[in-house]
Amino acid sequence: MKCEDARELITALVDEELSGAERFSIEGHLKDCLRCRFVYQEEQALKREVRAAGFRLSASPELRSKILSDRRIFPDSERSSGSWTERIFPAWPLLRPVLALALGVIIILPLLYLMRSPSEPISLAALEIQKKIIGGEISVRKASNPDELRKWQIRAVNGEFAPMEYDLSAMNVLPVGGLVQEINGRKMLVTVYAGNGLSVTCFTFLGTEEDAPKIASVFFDPEKKMKFYTFSGDGFHAVLHREGNVICILVSKIPKDDLLAIVRAQARPS
Ligand SMILES: [Zn+2]
Repeated sequence: MKCEDARELITALVDEELSGAERFSIEGHLKDCLRCRFVYQEEQALKREVRAAGFRLSASPELRSKILSDRRIFPDSERSSGSWTERIFPAWPLLRPVLALALGVIIILPLLYLMRSPSEPISLAALEIQKKIIGGEISVRKASNPDELRKWQIRAVNGEFAPMEYDLSAMNVLPVGGLVQEINGRKMLVTVYAGNGLSVTCFTFLGTEEDAPKIASVFFDPEKKMKFYTFSGDGFHAVLHREGNVICILVSKIPKDDLLAIVRAQARPS
């Protein structure tokens, strides 16, 4: 199955509208394809969100009786005179708030869908690039001199931002190379650290915390007053955080908690 075909089935899968055979083939694809799996997880998260929004839209009994007793909305004259709507639909005034809510649901829910329609998250690209770097599918510019690599990266983004730096020397893990990747028109500075049998990659780009995938777990550091987002895929763990308008994602096979500890220790509140 191609990703394009899979994408068409994902929404139906989330809505539980697939036949057994369709379900079987899409689930097979999701098992192998990290990208589509992310889209699937994002759609599931979106559906939960939309459902929660739907629940919030239903009126409490108090609000309902308040609306019904409001003279501006339901003047007495309208109640007693027997207007044509009342003759045709005796329950019409009672139905009005219900219809308003129904309309709200009809209008707002698709808007929520549009606003949050799952695009390819840049955070997912980080995991994929890491996989390709490890697999040798993407070549990395070797850093004979980390300073020179850093200057080259800053030049590649016209000095708009600099790659976030980590001091991992205590683990004997040092910057060994880097590259510049473009994801959906956004430039991403990638710095590869390695040593001691470990590999850690730092992805820096301009963005917001919205760039964290919906499936990420959020960790709030009360001391630094910063949020850290952790997520995983294909055996890699990732920690995303924001410093000003710069987003950094650190990706590694190091256990998630250790990776989070590294990022927390070195993150600077903006
Ligand atoms: Zn796919």
